[in-house]
Amino acid sequence: MFKCHICNSTESHIEYVNETFEINDKSYFVEKIPATVCSNCGKEIFSNKVSEAIRSTLNNQSDSSNQEQAEKQYGFGSLKGKIWMSNDFDAPLEELAEYM
Ligand SMILES: [Zn+2]
Repeated sequence: MFKCHICNSTESHIEYVNETFEINDKSYFVEKIPATVCSNCGKEIFSNKVSEAIRSTLNNQSDSSNQEQAEKQYGFGSLKGKIWMSNDFDAPLEELAEYM
């Protein structure tokens, strides 16, 4: 059951959100990530499955065969074509690290 660790609310809903991930000193902007969002405070929480899929996809971005494998494994093919690097983004989302 959902329980927000910020405000302890148990009310949540699913939203598609945009987030920036810091991996290997590079920033990646990812669009339309399915996230559980706290209905009280708006905190976005990604499931382990989603976080793993994003990390795998980004880590293997230069290797298309690995990316395909990750998409197959996690059923996260919707990420395809929605990830790009941002060279000037300098605000890592540190709170996201605990979910990854
Ligand atoms: Zn909350």
